[in-house]
Amino acid sequence: MQHYLEGLNEQQREAVLHKDGPIMIVAGAGSGKTKVLTTRIAHLMAAHHIDAFRILALTFTNKAAAEMKERIERTLGNTEARNLYIGTFHSVFARILRAEADRLGYPRSFTIYDTDDARSVVKTVVQELNLDDKHYKPNLVLNRISSAKNALVGPDEYANDYHLQQEDMQSGRPAIGKIYQAYWARCRKNGAMDFDDLLFNMYILLSTFPEVLHKYQHKFQYILIDEYQDTNAAQYQIVKLLAAVHENICVVGDDAQSIYSFRGATIENILQFQKDYDDVKVVKLEQNYRSTQSIIAVANEVIKNNKGQIPKALWTDNHPGEKIRLVRTMTDNDEGKYVADTIQEQKLRNHYNNRDFAILYRTNAQSRSFEESLRRMNIAYRIYGGISFYQRKEVKDFIAYLRVIVNPKEEESLKRIINYPIRGIGKTSVEKAVLAANDGGLSMWDVLGNAAMFGFKSGTLESIDQFVTMIKMFASELDKKNAYDVAVLVGKHTGIVKELFNDKTTEGLARYENVQELLNSIKEWIETPLNEEDGEVGDKSLGAYLQQITLLTDADKDEEDADVVKLMTIHAAKGLEFPVVFVAGIEEGLFPSGMSINSREDLEEERRLFYVAVTRAKQRLWLTYANNRYRFGQLVQNDPSRFLDEIPELHLDKSHAGGRAPGGFGGTSAFDRMHGKPSFGPPPARKPDQRPSYLGPAPKPAQVDHTPSKDFVPSDLSGLAPGQRVEHQKFGFGEVTKMEGSGHNPIATIKFDLNGEKKIMLNYAKLRIL
Ligand code: ATP
Ligand code: MG
Repeated sequence: MQHYLEGLNEQQREAVLHKDGPIMIVAGAGSGKTKVLTTRIAHLMAAHHIDAFRILALTFTNKAAAEMKERIERTLGNTEARNLYIGTFHSVFARILRAEADRLGYPRSFTIYDTDDARSVVKTVVQELNLDDKHYKPNLVLNRISSAKNALVGPDEYANDYHLQQEDMQSGRPAIGKIYQAYWARCRKNGAMDFDDLLFNMYILLSTFPEVLHKYQHKFQYILIDEYQDTNAAQYQIVKLLAAVHENICVVGDDAQSIYSFRGATIENILQFQKDYDDVKVVKLEQNYRSTQSIIAVANEVIKNNKGQIPKALWTDNHPGEKIRLVRTMTDNDEGKYVADTIQEQKLRNHYNNRDFAILYRTNAQSRSFEESLRRMNIAYRIYGGISFYQRKEVKDFIAYLRVIVNPKEEESLKRIINYPIRGIGKTSVEKAVLAANDGGLSMWDVLGNAAMFGFKSGTLESIDQFVTMIKMFASELDKKNAYDVAVLVGKHTGIVKELFNDKTTEGLARYENVQELLNSIKEWIETPLNEEDGEVGDKSLGAYLQQITLLTDADKDEEDADVVKLMTIHAAKGLEFPVVFVAGIEEGLFPSGMSINSREDLEEERRLFYVAVTRAKQRLWLTYANNRYRFGQLVQNDPSRFLDEIPELHLDKSHAGGRAPGGFGGTSAFDRMHGKPSFGPPPARKPDQRPSYLGPAPKPAQVDHTPSKDFVPSDLSGLAPGQRVEHQKFGFGEVTKMEGSGHNPIATIKFDLNGEKKIMLNYAKLRIL
């Protein structure tokens, strides 16, 4: 038997060994669904010799995909896994859409808009339609558009169908259909897709071009999907199209963990699966390998109160574990303090590290009290979600430059930078350019490029010409330079870096540092090979970089080695596991949320969310709630959540006091805040050696010896020069044709006899000079 099959239980093995035809694995949390998916891919490759290029695997985060690849590589002992089509729906579809962009009338270098960009385009079109953006709030409008796209309803269909617009009419917003049409047109004109477009356009591509559909249907011989319970209609339809020829589709999911119905995900997809295909093999996994018996008991007790559920029993052979600690505190600040104290105590008593703890909550706003108390105790932590690094203004401005260089048609970014740093192209001139573009059916870039024809004042005209020339100059470097070198050139040539450097205010300093961080992060990305084992460089173009940062998900921004307590919403914790978990704010009105308590469906989704939260814990679990909480600027009283009533007393340990007795407020309590004491300290300073978390895992230092054989020693390669013959452990014999890169990160271009030309990072390469 293959070694990777040995640790599996009977059902898991059955799922792995099932080769052809549809298979669905519906199983509870921590039962090894993701593990089965990984092992299945390894088995298809190792035992059935399926080409990695023909396997499509869709995961919930890029990180999960990277981990899978790594595990498969380890299992198989080769680097074939990197050829898998594996990633999130969004990243895999973006890759396919780039290859096929011309058919849809998009440039291959199309820009991907994050939510923030999308919102700003909505705002622009709302204003252009002479509507009030206070009434047509960008967030609200975007939600409606997003729902329509995820249900595969296009702008014209939406605008022409009274039924679809009923909700808009009732809420007094009859123009949403019009806004959708204008937004759609604007994105196309900008050569940009938002996240929903990556799905919707993929669907349009496959359903409009039979030859494209045919190509990918045949290409993907095996399709595997993790977290299937959270797929929406668009994802479901696309997968159905892709799987129609081979029908080798494997989905894994847990109906009890479906928590994205607000984004259009539907459990129906699980129920529908058996109707869509004949002879579906269904495997149930019931043994949990993650958690203690106490944790599983609590999860089971709560979830059984949901009516709409596929019945299954989750059990575990693991240690009984401690009872679940239920802790009440007076205020949210006491809750924060209690959690920080407990983390400190647990570190001493049970020898945990910071990284073993996760604090999970229902809403992002809850992070504040934990931040404060962790900071006060000097416990390193990191928040996932909230305002991310890439949303900061100076970072967005810089990225806007990079975007325009790759895709000058993209108007939002163009508007951001046309007068930044100030170059005398004022608001009126920008409006004029936009109007001229709209009137003439041109892009704003076209107008700027022919500015003389549009009657700008001579001073402005000169500035515009200089700007256009500069951008063209940057663009002409794209083929010659990697993303980092282009970015540095932009920083210098535009004067941005200097301008920020000269601003010596605290904020100015922070902005300067953020831009430096951005440049550093690009450099690190450049110097991290596609694959650390063999050092192949991969695509390090600016376009590849931009796509990569836009599609980061929260869980991707993890630092493998950082010893920090993790704070995140329960939504962001899906699929993850931690030794010790605190689920906080378990109060009526917060969890379940006040908006969910009037409908059974919504309430059941909250309960599933609770189930997800509890089942993240491996060894120890705390459930906390506060009597008083500062919300929306007011101190409110809350009752404990009904979910707590659903847990039998025998599983709970309530002996742990939380916070001080009434009247004994200490620290920065809600009381203090009401009386004006500042509750925010300065942000925690990052130690110089601490890597910022949005950079992703750090590349391994060059000294690390990856080499199994003595002959392949990276450090011997310093004297490598063009003309030399070498042997690469994976790509075989070849000749060095070019040397480049910096002293500490030398890159060789090698023409391999059998594998063609490749760029290889010598710090990683397993290479031998002949
Ligand atoms: P979730 O529903 O939270 O996504 P899951 O069903 O995907 O969970 P995994 O994450 O694959 O579960 O597995 C949970 C944990 O149990 C992991 O640490 C995994 O390595 C371990 N595990 C799974 N199967 C086995 C097994 N047969 N033997 C030992 N450990 C296992
Ligand atoms: Mg999983």
